[in-house]
Amino acid sequence: MTHPLLQPLSNKLTNIDTQGLRRQRLSVETPCQPRMVVDGQSVLAFNSNDYLGLAAHPQVVEALQEGVSLYGAGSGASHLISGHFQSHTRLEEMLAAMLSPYLESARALYFCTGYMANLGVLSALADSAQGDITVFSEALNHASLIDGIRLSRAAVQLYPHCDTQALGDSLSACTSTTKVVVTDSVFSMDGDIAPVRELLALCEQHGAWLLLDDAHGFGVLGATGCGILEELHLRSPNLIYMGTLGKAAGVGGAFVAAHDTFIDWMVQRSRPYIYTTAAPPALAHALLTSLRLITGDEGKARRAHLHELIQQFASASIPQSWSRVASQTAIQPIIIGNNADVLQASAKLRAQGFWITAIRAPTVPVGTARLRITLSAAHTAADVAELVTAVANCAHA
Ligand SMILES: *Cc1c(COP(=O)(O)O)cnc(C)c1O
Repeated sequence: MTHPLLQPLSNKLTNIDTQGLRRQRLSVETPCQPRMVVDGQSVLAFNSNDYLGLAAHPQVVEALQEGVSLYGAGSGASHLISGHFQSHTRLEEMLAAMLSPYLESARALYFCTGYMANLGVLSALADSAQGDITVFSEALNHASLIDGIRLSRAAVQLYPHCDTQALGDSLSACTSTTKVVVTDSVFSMDGDIAPVRELLALCEQHGAWLLLDDAHGFGVLGATGCGILEELHLRSPNLIYMGTLGKAAGVGGAFVAAHDTFIDWMVQRSRPYIYTTAAPPALAHALLTSLRLITGDEGKARRAHLHELIQQFASASIPQSWSRVASQTAIQPIIIGNNADVLQASAKLRAQGFWITAIRAPTVPVGTARLRITLSAAHTAADVAELVTAVANCAHA
């Protein structure tokens, strides 16, 4: 007999099963690399956001070990008590230097995760505006931005995907003193890129902030891997930039880069920054090496190789009943539609030794369930060729 407190949960879980929405975690037994062992099976994986293949890079791994020997395992406290280490400071200085061509008086703040960074920016903005704030949120924004907006309790207006016309109209009609436009730069489940230049022009015209979540751009876009702002050669005092360090940078955490005064405000008032134990200083130490790789020749070579793989996969044909998003990034989804079909496709690929997770609602809109294929510089052209064949095979039979 199920305990009465648990009964409503079991009912809902059964419901999740019948809709094909059960999410499962598999255990990986080897480093994050294209070839890994998962639940005892050797697979070729196209799942991770380790776009440059730095998560298991020998120099990054060695730097992490060095960080542990220098600073130990944990930080022991939050940043404002005694948990802010020299490696955190150096990391923030290096990030600020990377972003300084694109921001006025750039300074960076390191967060434990990107999720927390987004909560941190939005709640700090709302705190400064004392209720007189409207957030304009792109329809396909990442869950962490949506939750940040909820936490901020700001008034929110949704605008349709990449619809700068609709956004412009809403901005014109808005009477709030503080206006903030919030968007992913590279959309996490689609791989397309927001019209950032146009969004920034609108923000400047209407005196609004533009909060850019560059989780999938930092490290990958731009000649030296500085992300979307470098890619598009944009610079503006209206920008607040968020980049993550657990994807292309291969380690973990995230940062916000913005004007010195804004960062100072966050240090004073951003609760997701203040009330949490600082990330282990060894992570920040490892990230210094990762950033050196990203901005140096090796990063350049890895981005060039990744770009070739993207072209290779994007130009291959896929089964007729499936569709693609026009994506020029490492995120190359194949839209299948309903949950049962995407689960079946994912299982067929697994049986052939390919690991590609089925992405379903609420991560993506109902009816657009997909295989979210991601490419990494750690893949070879032969890996991608194998994938293309497997995808073609799995639609038949
Ligand atoms: C992954 C992701 C985040 C969250 O970053 P974490 O460091 O994983 O918490 C935020 N925004 C977008 C668009 C993401 O894809």
